[in-house]
Amino acid sequence: MRILTWEEAIQAEKYMQEAAKVALSATCERSKCWSVIVKNWKIIWTWFNSPAKNLESQRRCSCDKSSYHRKVTDKTCCIHAEQRALFDALRNHPEEIQWATLYFIRLDKDNKPSKAWKPYCTICSKSALELWIKEFLLYHEEWITAYDTEEYNTLSYQYDEL
Ligand SMILES: [Zn+2]
Ligand SMILES: [Zn+2]
Repeated sequence: MRILTWEEAIQAEKYMQEAAKVALSATCERSKCWSVIVKNWKIIWTWFNSPAKNLESQRRCSCDKSSYHRKVTDKTCCIHAEQRALFDALRNHPEEIQWATLYFIRLDKDNKPSKAWKPYCTICSKSALELWIKEFLLYHEEWITAYDTEEYNTLSYQYDEL
């Protein structure tokens, strides 16, 4: 992983600020998240989290995760912002996705960008790696950190916070 510096950090900070606005559109009742895919400092695609296809019939935001059978691999409620950004970039800009950068941000209760946790979402980490995304960027409050996607996937599987 590396901490962004100088122009890279300033530009990334701008994307993160834009993020807060897009994330407000998220309809998940648990958290408001945002993700953007950037290639050569150009935004390719951006998305927030919501039930799959925005269908109310698929809303599981209030379901208790422990109620699912252990074979249910994904117990999270909504399509993750990163999943959506990846799917849509794949659908609309497949030629640009390789070596692109993926940003992720979550809003706090006051709709302000919150400090990111350590990587833990193996759904998104595996997908980003499989799609040849170059780096995963997280907002660690006072600095923005870029993780190589292979490292990000490894770290996600090693997550051990309580
Ligand atoms: Zn949800
Ligand atoms: Zn995820």
